[in-house]
Amino acid sequence: MGMTTSSVRRRRAGSAVTAAVLGLLAAAAAPALAATDGPAGHPAAGAPAGSAHGAARTEAHTTARGAQGSAHAAARTEAHTTARGAVEGAARTPLGITRLAQGPGHAVAITIDDGPDPRWTPQVLQVLRKNHVKATFCMIGTNAQKYPELVRAVAADGHRLCDHSADHDVTMDHKPVAYQRKQILDGKAMIQKAVPGVAVDYYRAPGGAFTPDSRAVATESGMQPLGWSVDPKDWSRPGLPAIVSAVEGKLPQQPTVLFHDGGGDRSETVAALKQYLPWLSARGYAFTFPVRATP
Ligand SMILES: [Zn+2]
Repeated sequence: MGMTTSSVRRRRAGSAVTAAVLGLLAAAAAPALAATDGPAGHPAAGAPAGSAHGAARTEAHTTARGAQGSAHAAARTEAHTTARGAVEGAARTPLGITRLAQGPGHAVAITIDDGPDPRWTPQVLQVLRKNHVKATFCMIGTNAQKYPELVRAVAADGHRLCDHSADHDVTMDHKPVAYQRKQILDGKAMIQKAVPGVAVDYYRAPGGAFTPDSRAVATESGMQPLGWSVDPKDWSRPGLPAIVSAVEGKLPQQPTVLFHDGGGDRSETVAALKQYLPWLSARGYAFTFPVRATP
């Protein structure tokens, strides 16, 4: 892939950003920024994630869990487009769910869920280190509590941390707000107990079971609600070609890709990362963190 293609892509990304920002300015002028917040588990009815907007994008709508046998199989609706500027200074407004890697262009955010795990996390860290990739680890609080040395190892390598709730209850969106709040804040506290003072930049609901309330709790606690735009279903051990083809179509949209280092046999995840990360690097893609609407 030559410079020309890169330049074209950058220009395209630039104009998409401009268009999105212009759209945002219009949206910000309307007083109804929070009015798009739907009820929890709003059924997906819209376009697939990442249709036309290549810019800093967060989603205001919640994620409905799908029925494909995976807690992470999610149907998604994008009901609202926004970007950094529109929500800064609005810390009490529940943030949308980001699914976008930080740009500009040619960027992919790798996210690793459900650890830390004494068998798989060290292997994943080794692959990331070898490929000079920084990722975002969405940790389950009780696992962080059990393996604080692994939380420290992840943080020491320069990866970002994401609260994946205390117990990974994928039905928490149907439970009282007080329960959701406790799951979220306890998860964060368990991670920070392992590494005092460490930043926990994101919150990812287990199974994507976000609610407006859980997004508000996360936002108030300084965590950006984090979704994903590509689920290569590494948990089902589909093989590299399937993983690559799942990601390939989303590459122009600065995807956030979901992998796992806990919750089961992750040997195929490790194997896939070993091949997939160099494959992306060779094509000129940078590895970044997911967009945060607040700095
Ligand atoms: Zn999970």
